[in-house]
Amino acid sequence: VDQVDGNFVRAVRNCVFSKSIPTPLKGPLRLAAVSKDVIEGILDLDAAVTQSEDFLLYVSGARLMPGSVPLAHRYGGHQFGYWAGQLGDGRAHFLGQYTNRKGEIWDLQLKGSGKTPYSRSGDGRAVIRSSVREFLCSEAMHSLGVPTSRAASLVVSKEPVLRDQFYNGNVKTERGAVVLRLAKSWFRIGSLEILSRTGEIDLLRKLLNFVIEEHFPSISSDDPDKYLVLYATIVNETAHLIASWMSVGFAHGVCNTDNFSLLSITIDYGPFGFMESYDPNFVPNTSDDEGRYSIGAQANVGLFNLEKLLEALSPMMEDTQSDFTMTFRQLSEASAQQLRLQIYKRLICVHSYFFIFTNLPTDVNPRYVLRNWMAESAVRKAEVDDFSEVELLHRVLSVPFVTQETAEEAGYAARPPSWAKRLKVSCSS
Ligand code: AMP
Ligand code: MG
Ligand code: MG
Repeated sequence: VDQVDGNFVRAVRNCVFSKSIPTPLKGPLRLAAVSKDVIEGILDLDAAVTQSEDFLLYVSGARLMPGSVPLAHRYGGHQFGYWAGQLGDGRAHFLGQYTNRKGEIWDLQLKGSGKTPYSRSGDGRAVIRSSVREFLCSEAMHSLGVPTSRAASLVVSKEPVLRDQFYNGNVKTERGAVVLRLAKSWFRIGSLEILSRTGEIDLLRKLLNFVIEEHFPSISSDDPDKYLVLYATIVNETAHLIASWMSVGFAHGVCNTDNFSLLSITIDYGPFGFMESYDPNFVPNTSDDEGRYSIGAQANVGLFNLEKLLEALSPMMEDTQSDFTMTFRQLSEASAQQLRLQIYKRLICVHSYFFIFTNLPTDVNPRYVLRNWMAESAVRKAEVDDFSEVELLHRVLSVPFVTQETAEEAGYAARPPSWAKRLKVSCSS
């Protein structure tokens, strides 16, 4: 942990985390939504406690657990194909770990909770629009069976936050929000890349060993090939993740290496989108002019990111055995094929369900996904403090395979309404 205290923005060396205290949003605050599944099933809390003032203070970052040392994670990443240097949690605070009744360990993180040493030119905030989308989509993805981070709660405020949604100079005042997010780990490819690129090899090895011990119990700590096995495992799991995305028509939107999890879960819900009609060139993010992260490009982008992971792992290897670089090279070529094969196998499986069966098995093809227009409709209401559609969508999408009357009434299984055609989503969040 970085020994310098304070949230001032800076380039940081020789650490994986910096101490950073959340800056509470200006009141009045309101708890706009909670995920009962997370509150009860992961955090072992009675849903009734979410009604208390204490709960609101904790999940908004206004109050900390006794002894808690909130941290911002230092990472780097390749953004749109290029090395971007130090990025890090610019508006997120890691609050601590919780070991639940089932023995699972979860990392709790606030998003939108103020500036950190990694905020760069950002304000440390997240707006209602993007927070509603993240809250709804991460829970919806979980219910679809796609590996993902989770969302426990959504708090909104009246604090003004300025955003230029379309990067055209038209700045709009929106309102700040905070989401409490959970994952088994928030480490990303970029977590390793920053250490590798800056030559912090001891720390890189330490972090890798920690990740293996905590999250890959099947890999033995004294296996001489443990980093190779780790890499092969991540390749496999990432293939599974991308195949899962493709099978539900999900385009992540910003597949940078800092948004690719080492546990191969979906993280960072920004300008994502679900494909409306079949189009491999579908690009959810209007700021992605070149269509680098189109839905059909995700498998190849996955390969690019895994290649970057491999690069991050290699300097460790150099001093141990001279032919490691070649071993890695071969492994990477093998894994590229493996990745494609996995994705195609999974896709063929999904498509055969579409084409072969007239009676579609209801547990394979979802009836409801979070289409942009649905999220937009919920956001418009949320911005005027009406959270009824957030709640309705949250409920419907928690059982996406089951036909429900209220969902049908809202048109969630129908073709998008005409106004939805003009909808745009950008990186601005
Ligand atoms: P993303 O494109 O969402 O993955 O974000 C890329 C980087 O920008 C990450 O390091 C974020 O923490 C940072 N970032 C995004 N928005 C803000 C913001 N409003 N304030 C500070 N940092 C931000
Ligand atoms: Mg990110
Ligand atoms: Mg983001």
